[in-house]
Amino acid sequence: MLTGSNSDAILPGRTIGLLGGGQLGRMFALEARRLGYRVHVFDPEPGCPAGQVSDREVSALYSDIAALEDFASSVDVVTYEFENIPVSAIDAVAAITPVAPRGEVLHICQNREREKTFLRNAGIPCADFRVVDSVESLTAALKELGGEGVLKTADFGYDGKGQVRIRVGDDPAQAWASLDAPRGVLEAWVPFAMELSVVAARGWDHSVAVFPVVENIHTNHILDLSVIPARVPEASAQEAIQIAGRVIKALDVVGLLAVEFFLLPDGRVIVNELAPRPHNSGHFSFDACVTSQFEQQLRAVCGLPLGSVELLRPIAMKNLLGDIWNQGEPDWAASLADPDIKLHLYGKRTPRPGRKMGHLCAFGTSNEDALAKVEAAAIRLGHS
Ligand code: AMP
Repeated sequence: MLTGSNSDAILPGRTIGLLGGGQLGRMFALEARRLGYRVHVFDPEPGCPAGQVSDREVSALYSDIAALEDFASSVDVVTYEFENIPVSAIDAVAAITPVAPRGEVLHICQNREREKTFLRNAGIPCADFRVVDSVESLTAALKELGGEGVLKTADFGYDGKGQVRIRVGDDPAQAWASLDAPRGVLEAWVPFAMELSVVAARGWDHSVAVFPVVENIHTNHILDLSVIPARVPEASAQEAIQIAGRVIKALDVVGLLAVEFFLLPDGRVIVNELAPRPHNSGHFSFDACVTSQFEQQLRAVCGLPLGSVELLRPIAMKNLLGDIWNQGEPDWAASLADPDIKLHLYGKRTPRPGRKMGHLCAFGTSNEDALAKVEAAAIRLGHS
């Protein structure tokens, strides 16, 4: 069992098991293979983005306990890149091989009620909320939270799915009906100035490293642009880094924890949500930091010392969604005309509107310069 002592470390040449084979897993596998590890990926979809760059791809359902046990027996440690893996799958694997982060972390982060209750009990600043399970409890909660808010499903939900904005005067019955779930969380409306995120890492030896703060710009509830370093007061950035460190310790994570924040107009930051895995907003680190978030996840779960999170140059990232295939294959060469552009494509065969197919990063002399360059490169590709 890994304990944090160097003699227990899982060293290059050994095999890492990865649950989930999307783009986050693909970038993790690329880093793991660069460091000389073998990678086995478990994902229901054959030919998944991570499977394409791994040593072994297991295509089976997360309910297939025999396949999970076989997978677990073939690897030295297991981590994950996808949040909606059933905890029963993690438990089946953990009975055979160490899993990091531990299943309880996933259990908490898979459900807003548990996640927000955990944050509140740990004294971490977040939006006020009430758990609701009927029109009556929603009506009472709305009164307590100032008449407006965001109603979110308690279970699963990402990129703004399973959410209903309720404004003063809206009909609670209609809002409850459109949530279409037996249980929800009503959050107070946060008039935020900006959305931020931070990826933190923690090893088996409890060492912690926190990446620079990212400024995120969403379009249609999907991350569109990230700017690093975030254009925020230094005190706000430090507060976000300090809170992320507190949360990763309180949750007892070994691996990565992405923490999304709202920046309030007065400069304070409060936590929006957590993800115990690499994060879309951390992609910049692949190009711009001494250690990427993916290498850091590997180091953390293998019991190696964490790497430097230093940002080498200002950078901006733009997600490339399936929409840009509307008029045929995008003009990759045109996007690369600027030598400071890095192109990442995830090997997904079918572009669909809203599907994350790749991303662009641009280095700049400043974060503003990087942002202008990445937007210009996206326009050359055909992105609006
Ligand atoms: P979530 O999936 O919870 O991160 O929510 C998706 C997006 O909805 C966030 O990135 C915010 O832009 C917005 N949002 C969520 N919760 C709130 C809130 N309580 N107040 C204001 N905006 C919110």
